[in-house]
Parts: sequence; C-alpha cells; structure tokens
Amino acid sequence: MLGSGIIKGLAVTAKNFVGSFHDPARYTTVEYPEVKPKLPEAYRNFPFLVSETAADPMGTLRCVACKICEKECPPQCIYIVRETDEKGKPKPVPKVFDIDISVCMSCQICVEVCPFDAIKMDQEFEIAKTGRFTELLLNREQLAKPNSYYHQIHPQEAAGVDAALAEQKAKAEAAKAAKAAKAAAAIAPKAAEPPPPTPPAP
Ligand code: SF4
Ligand code: SF4
Repeated sequence: MLGSGIIKGLAVTAKNFVGSFHDPARYTTVEYPEVKPKLPEAYRNFPFLVSETAADPMGTLRCVACKICEKECPPQCIYIVRETDEKGKPKPVPKVFDIDISVCMSCQICVEVCPFDAIKMDQEFEIAKTGRFTELLLNREQLAKPNSYYHQIHPQEAAGVDAALAEQKAKAEAAKAAKAAKAAAAIAPKAAEPPPPTPPAP
C-alpha cells in the first residue's frame, strides 16, 4: 500500500513518544549534564594506561616501557622514556609516558600492538580544556587508571583480558616449576652418591 512505510514509521515514533513517559529504555535524549548518557561498550576516544590497583597506580602499571606503541602510533603523539636504575641499566617501567591528545586520532593502534594489555581506550569525554597545548598533553599520572575502571567501561573486553593474563601467568608458573624440578633432579643423584672410600692406614 502506498505510504505504508510512513505510517509504520509514525507508529514507532508515537510508541516511543508515549512510552518515554514511563519507560527510561525509550528515552532518546538525556538531561545532560545532570544525567550522563550510558555509552556503548565499543565507544572509545583516547587511550589510558591500566594499573592493577587504584591504591598504587604508578607502582602497578602494566606498561613495561617497550615503546612498541610509541613506534606504531601513526601521528607520533606518544612519548616514552624508560626508567633506569642507579647504574643506568633500563628498568621495565616508564619514567615518562605522555600522550598528546590534541594530536591523537583515536585509531586504537596503540592498544592493538601492546603485547601486555597495558593501554586501553577510554570513554571519558568531559575533557575540554582552556589551553590548546600543554593542557592536552597527558602524563602517566593523568593516564593511569585501575583495572576496575577498565571493567566498568569495557566489561566484556576486560574479562577476556583478565582470563588471558591469568592463563599466561599459570603457564609461566608451570614452566618455572618444571624447570626448578628438572634442576633439582639433576643435582639429586650427585647428592645421593656415597662418599669416596677412606684409604687404608699405612
Ligand atoms: S589511539 Fe592512535 S593516535 Fe591515539 S595514541 Fe593510540 S596509536 Fe596514537
Ligand atoms: S603501553 Fe604497551 S606497547 Fe606501549 S610501551 Fe607500554 S607495554 Fe609497550
């Protein structure tokens, strides 16, 4: 029938209009900023660094400062400096980890290439600043957020990452235990060997 599509469309509009008075699921708008919109899990804007705990974000960063993300970032907006010990030997921790979010294009390549699940995409959007330059250059303290926050914004993805990390950890521990057992078995026969005979008295 001519115009049936228009009638169906208007019926959906009328249903949502009436339904929105009693069913929040039918709201098409929210009263922002009092009410924050619920973002879909796949929504992303800028990266953040995952730390294991909220209590000690700098001490529990997953990042090992391998710099892969820095090399792969298309607009080169990541800057990393590795921590060193007192002898100048590099440590697997970032001393400096900056991201210029005025340049970041939210491509997520840094997340894809990170072998340690240490960098993920954030959903925080209330980040407007008055300064154009340094205020949009986020340092590691500003970038670090706990794993619990990652679970909050990307629950399915974070659960998958946790499961994969737990599996990796279990495999590493099993390999370490097997190596230790092998080393102990190699030493054991020598320990069990009888002492050399004492020479006869002259
Ligand atoms: S999201 Fe893309 S542009 Fe932004 S820091 Fe990561 S790799 Fe660079
Ligand atoms: S975020 Fe990942 S890829 Fe980037 S330096 Fe840290 S561990 Fe390496």
